[in-house]
Amino acid sequence: MSVRWNLDDILPESQFDELYARAEKDLETFIAKKSLLSPSMSKKDFVDLLKLEDSISEDLYRLYDMPALRESANSSDTLAQKLKGRALQLLVQAEDAVRFFSHWIKGKDVEGVDTLDDNNARRLFAASKPHRHILERARELAAHTLTEPEERLATLKDANLRETLQDVRRQLETAQTFRFKPVSAKRSKTIATQSELMQYVHDPRPDYREAAYRSLFDVYKNNLPLYFFVFQGIQKDWDAMAGLRGYESPIAMRNVSNDLMSGSVELLLEVCRRNAPLFQRFFRLKARLLKQKKLSRFDLYAPYPDTPDERISYGDAVDLVMNTFTDFHQPFADRARRIIDEQHIDSHPRKEKSSGAFCATVTPSITPYVLLNYTGRLRDVSVIAHELGHGVHSLYANGQTIAGQNPTLPLAETASTFGELLVFERLLASYDEQAAAALLFDKLSDSYATVMRQAYFARFEIEAHSAVAAGVTAEELSDIYFSTLTEQFGDSVDVDELFRYEWSYIPHMVKTPFYVYAYAFGELLSLALFARYKAEGDSFIPKIEEILISGRTSYPHTILKKCDIDISSDSFWQGSFDLVEGWLEKLSKIFSHEKI
Ligand SMILES: [Zn+2]
Repeated sequence: MSVRWNLDDILPESQFDELYARAEKDLETFIAKKSLLSPSMSKKDFVDLLKLEDSISEDLYRLYDMPALRESANSSDTLAQKLKGRALQLLVQAEDAVRFFSHWIKGKDVEGVDTLDDNNARRLFAASKPHRHILERARELAAHTLTEPEERLATLKDANLRETLQDVRRQLETAQTFRFKPVSAKRSKTIATQSELMQYVHDPRPDYREAAYRSLFDVYKNNLPLYFFVFQGIQKDWDAMAGLRGYESPIAMRNVSNDLMSGSVELLLEVCRRNAPLFQRFFRLKARLLKQKKLSRFDLYAPYPDTPDERISYGDAVDLVMNTFTDFHQPFADRARRIIDEQHIDSHPRKEKSSGAFCATVTPSITPYVLLNYTGRLRDVSVIAHELGHGVHSLYANGQTIAGQNPTLPLAETASTFGELLVFERLLASYDEQAAAALLFDKLSDSYATVMRQAYFARFEIEAHSAVAAGVTAEELSDIYFSTLTEQFGDSVDVDELFRYEWSYIPHMVKTPFYVYAYAFGELLSLALFARYKAEGDSFIPKIEEILISGRTSYPHTILKKCDIDISSDSFWQGSFDLVEGWLEKLSKIFSHEKI
């Protein structure tokens, strides 16, 4: 039984032109209101302007998201592409047209209007509680904003040079082909894409896994000088901009956009470092399971031997998720039920449908949409729980404004990870030992990849920025990378020298500098919250709900503080690793029964 979504709740296609015309007209009205701007303006006029801006944004998102979602369900939908193009044009136009308002809020000079001073900013911002945080934040960020001609130069520089550098890397990556020759294969073959090659690192055959990594890093090693130039160029540019904008360190420029204090990121990385031995224990266990003395890095992603190939129908999977949510908390389940009942899910893979899974929040008044590619594997069941969790989060926060509904990155995975963990624990409790071991094994592998691996990427990135600033060669940079691997794995994994070039293969550090730690941050935060829920039971649920309802109306540390959670406390973060340790202990126990 597969289901398709009904996008009419966003906007029926027949009403596109009408809404487009309305948005255009409202934009003109908004521009005409510029004459009202003055530091002494009334609170009512100010709040009305904010509301008009919100309603324009809502219309623009509806105009854009309807065709965009249609296209993700069918990439050859040419009408959707055309409508999306028109909506995008209007979005860009709107951004330009209302810029005077955001500039004025930030306290910047706007032609023909008196500048908004701090006292009046406080007076006006206090008039609208729902907008307050976003407004105050904009004003804080203004301290890191350059003058208008400088900002224009920066935008041009980014578009013409930084993006070109990023394109060079992308080009380089996609042009690469790989000679693939596992020991047991008769002859070598050429593999045209990296994603095809990387499938083999999960292959059950050890020589296929090793061959995949060898051909990957052979190619990266050959192109190392080019990857190094791009990496260095991006880093120098980032650091120079962070300096000009008055940030205390390169990573601080990213922390601010994530609404985080530098201290909490440092603490997180430190707690990760301290817990590296936890995953080292997992790798030792994995070596025993694969009948190796010491785990080879080539086998890090070797699959669990004899994974039971259990298939679950879509209907049963949805029931399983919904029963789990209901047992957790009825209002949580009710929100997920709305997404299902309102036909806001597209469930199964089709040709021309985009891959993966996501939850799309359009506006606070529209129930979110979920795209899945359900194939019946156990993993797909967690994906349902994860994406419905995102939807539940949005529905809890739908009392906020359009800018305040979507949580900031570090909190964005709270309900999704929670949903996933609830289903995981339910399955674990209902499984026999063999199936439970496979489940635990996958969970620990996933946690390693989202938490520890990312945390060490972040460590490398921080070190690389200072090394590049001081002057470094590509080989020296590879040495630095290798030392982070040595620390991460201790003596639990045998790491081939080739892995020293792995940094050149990670696109994020070039695409979005200092992004990787956010993965670890979000995941660990959710795990720690789940650990608190397990310790405190149902009395913790109202706190979770408070976090979800808050959306983006405050800084994460303020939202969490209200719920008695202190992210500057070491023991809070340790809770998440203790949860992971519990899984590892369960797994070790099962293995000790089997005497492997
Ligand atoms: Zn997610």
